[in-house]
Amino acid sequence: MEKMYCFYCDKEVVGNLRVENTKYTIQGKDVYVDDHVFTCPNCKTEYNFDSVDEGLYKVYDAYLNLYGLSFKKLKEIRESLNLSQELFATVLGWSKKTITRYENAESLPQKEYLDTYINLTRDKNYIYYILKNNNSLTKKEYYKILDKINVDIDYKSINVVLYILNNGKLNRTQLMKHLFGVDFESYKLNNVTISSFRYANAPFGPIVNNQDTLINFLIKNDYISVESSKDDTFMLFVPSQKADLSCFNDDEILIMNKVVNKFKNKSAKELSNWSHGFKGWIDTKNGEIISFEYAKYLEI
Ligand SMILES: [Zn+2]
Repeated sequence: MEKMYCFYCDKEVVGNLRVENTKYTIQGKDVYVDDHVFTCPNCKTEYNFDSVDEGLYKVYDAYLNLYGLSFKKLKEIRESLNLSQELFATVLGWSKKTITRYENAESLPQKEYLDTYINLTRDKNYIYYILKNNNSLTKKEYYKILDKINVDIDYKSINVVLYILNNGKLNRTQLMKHLFGVDFESYKLNNVTISSFRYANAPFGPIVNNQDTLINFLIKNDYISVESSKDDTFMLFVPSQKADLSCFNDDEILIMNKVVNKFKNKSAKELSNWSHGFKGWIDTKNGEIISFEYAKYLEI
C-alpha cells in the first residue's frame, strides 16, 4: 500500500500500485519499461507513481539496453580503460561535461556518441584507434594517455609471446613475423589460431594489429623487458618468465616449434622480405586487417 495525494479527491489517499509495461519511442526505437501505476481507491484516477526523473531514467536506460549498454555501463567502459573523465574526454575530443552528464544519466548520448560507446564495448582496442586518429593531442598527452590505458590481453596470447621469446630474444619486426607465422600456420592447418591476435598490413610485413598496445601491455605488466642489441641498432625483447605450457595442446606446440625453427637466425630484413611474398600482405593496404582466409597461401 502506498500513500498519494489525489487531486480529484483533494486529499491524501492510500491505495495499491500496479506494474504496467508501457511502450515508449526514443530516437525512433520502441522500448518497453515497467511503470508503477497508482489508482485512487475513491475516484479510480490513475497516476504514474514514478517521479519524472525515475521514469526518464528507466526509459533512457532501456534505450541504451538495445545496444548492450546502460548508464552504469557507460561509466564502467571508461573505468575499465583506467581513464579519468578528463582524459577520456581528451581522447574522444568530447567535453568533460558531456561525459559527466552521460554517466550521471542526465542526458542520453546522441547517436554519434553512442556509436563510440558501442564500438568500445565490442572491442576495447578501439580506444587506440581513436587515440591514433586524434590529431589535436600533443605528443605528451598522447603518451600520458597511452601509458594510462588499461587493456587486458588474454593469458594464452601472452604465453604465445613468451614461448617464442623463450627460444631467443627478438626485435620487434622479428617478433611480429613469428606471431604472424604461428597464427597463420595454425589457421592453415587447423582453421583456428593459437593466440587471439589479429594481423594488419604494415610496411615491413604483417604485424599484430595494435602492436603498440600489445608491447605496452607486456612491458607494463613485466612479462617482457627491453634491452639494446649488441650493435645498438635494435631494441630486443627479453622474456621475464617461462611460458605456461599448460595453455597449449601438443599440436600447438608443434606449430610454434616449426615456426621458431624455420625463423631461427633470420634477420628482421629477411623475415620482412619473406612476408612480402605472402598473398595476404600483397592484397591488402597499409593498416588493413589481413583475413585469416589467406592462411592457405602461407608457405613457411
Ligand atoms: Zn481520488
